[in-house]
Amino acid sequence: SERTLVLVKPDGVARGLVGEVLSRIERKGFTLVALELRTLDRATAESHYGEHAEKPFFGELVDFITSGPLLAAVIEGREAISSWRTMMGATDPAKAAPGTIRGDLATVMSENVSHGSDSPESAAREIALFFPHL
Ligand code: ATP
Ligand code: MG
Repeated sequence: SERTLVLVKPDGVARGLVGEVLSRIERKGFTLVALELRTLDRATAESHYGEHAEKPFFGELVDFITSGPLLAAVIEGREAISSWRTMMGATDPAKAAPGTIRGDLATVMSENVSHGSDSPESAAREIALFFPHL
C-alpha cells in the first residue's frame, strides 16, 4: 500500500465540502493516517507548490492557498496516489468527469476543491512538509 497527501483547499473548506471529501475517502476504503485543519503561511505554501514557482499563476496560487484554513490529510491504501487523483478528476473542473470531486463540485481551475500528490516523490516531499512527525 501507498500514502498520499490530500488537501481540501480553502474554497472547499469555506463551501462546507470537508465532509463530502472525507466521505468519499472513507467510502472508497482508504485509511486516514493524519488529519489537520490549518492555515498555511506563505513559506509553506511556496514550498508546497515549488514546482510552479516560475509559472505566471504562482502568485495567485499562493494567495489562494493561504487565504483561509485548509484540511490536510494523509491517506493510505492500494495505489493511493494515482487512485486519489482519479477520484479528484482533471485539474480543470470544466474537463473533469462527472463522478469526480472536481467534476461534481467545481467550475474554475483556481478553485478546484482538492489536491493530491502527483508522484511517489511528491507524496514523500509533501507528507514531510505537512506532517514532519510521520
Ligand atoms: P494540485 O497540485 O492543486 O493538486 P494538479 O496537480 O491537478 O493540482 P497542477 O498542475 O499541480 O495541478 O497545478 C496546481 C494548481 O495550480 C491547480 O490545482 C490549479 O488550481 C492551479 N493551476 C494550474 N494550472 C493553472 C493555470 N494554467 N492557470 C491558473 N491556475 C492554474
Ligand atoms: Mg499538482
